Amino acid sequence: MKREYTKMDVGLLHLANKKVVLRLIKDHDEITRSSLSKKSGLTPPSITRIVDELISKDKLVESLGVGDSSGGRPPVIVKFKNHNNLIIGIDLGATYIRGCLVDLNANFVSEIQVPTELEKGFFSIIEKVVKVINKLHNRKDVDAKIWGVGIGVAGLVNSETGIIESSPDFRWSDIDLRKELDKHLDLPFFYDNSTRLMALGELKMGVKENQKNFAVINIGYGIASGLVVEGNLLKGFSGFAGEFGHISVDTDSEVQCKCGMYGCLEALASGHRIASLGKLALSNDSSALLKELCQGNEELITAELVAIAAKKGDEASIKIYEEVAEYLCKGIGTIANLLNPETVYVGGGISLSGDLLFDLIEKKKNKYLLPANAKVKIMPCTHGDQATSIGAVSLILEKILNLELSLN
Ligand SMILES: [Zn+2]
Repeated sequence: MKREYTKMDVGLLHLANKKVVLRLIKDHDEITRSSLSKKSGLTPPSITRIVDELISKDKLVESLGVGDSSGGRPPVIVKFKNHNNLIIGIDLGATYIRGCLVDLNANFVSEIQVPTELEKGFFSIIEKVVKVINKLHNRKDVDAKIWGVGIGVAGLVNSETGIIESSPDFRWSDIDLRKELDKHLDLPFFYDNSTRLMALGELKMGVKENQKNFAVINIGYGIASGLVVEGNLLKGFSGFAGEFGHISVDTDSEVQCKCGMYGCLEALASGHRIASLGKLALSNDSSALLKELCQGNEELITAELVAIAAKKGDEASIKIYEEVAEYLCKGIGTIANLLNPETVYVGGGISLSGDLLFDLIEKKKNKYLLPANAKVKIMPCTHGDQATSIGAVSLILEKILNLELSLN
């Protein structure tokens, strides 16, 4: 028995050391074997064995040959093998399905966007997702390999079972996405809640390295958040942490949320709410510009159209954005006072309307922040409308760096 334990320990130790070496190589543009030895504390023969394995077996590292010597033995330089190693990221949203094919450093090879067409139902959406993945797969070079597919879904994904327990955006409940996609995909695939993946993307591939405390707020059709505390992405007991859209920001409100409660942030500040208020302005005849922009057809009023009108100085539209920004600041104040984040990133469709919303938030935020939290930076997500897709890519990249995936 004792020998078996020893064998197992040696195997686990080797794997742990290999992960350390792989992360070191990934974190440097290029690095010598001797620096790897110094930084990891592993002996030169161990480094040689691990690096050789990462080159020939795992195909995640390449040798750049021998560098110039400053006296002793010439250094052997290696780097992370980005070229021809690819990941597919999918953002499965209620309005669009976005897909990207990127290399392991998130450089784009190709991207696709198709309308979701919710009304056509679950199987049509699955068919579209599969088509987007297959199209991206066909756009890779012949020699390139795809490691896996990451998918961000707008909904409550149970982290234990993989079941999408509910998705108000899609009107789904208890959906086994894995079972359905398994029938069509040969590539390994993993999925999670889209906003949580936005936060993972910001953590692993964002503009700022080594940030450990931040929040990502996703404002689109609904509102949700992804929270990173002390470098860890919060999941919660069943994986549902971050349902920021359902904190109450007006207990007197008569606006009912999709969840059934009244005065939720999502009910009062989402893209859906902005469009509803725009429609109300049209029916009250309080905005000549909105009426002109939608040609009198209220179906054409979207949050984006209200933003366009507001930027052109339309008073009714500015008032709508003022009201929404006030509620968002209440929400942001709650998160900031609770978690003391360095940054609150704002993403989702509503964040793409330029400075309008950010200027209003900047003007109103201090009302809801303790002085100690007033330094919190509020800014757009690093990857804009690709934030979920890049988050989905990060999900796969993390599995690659943890040596949980292999190429067959
Ligand atoms: Zn709610």
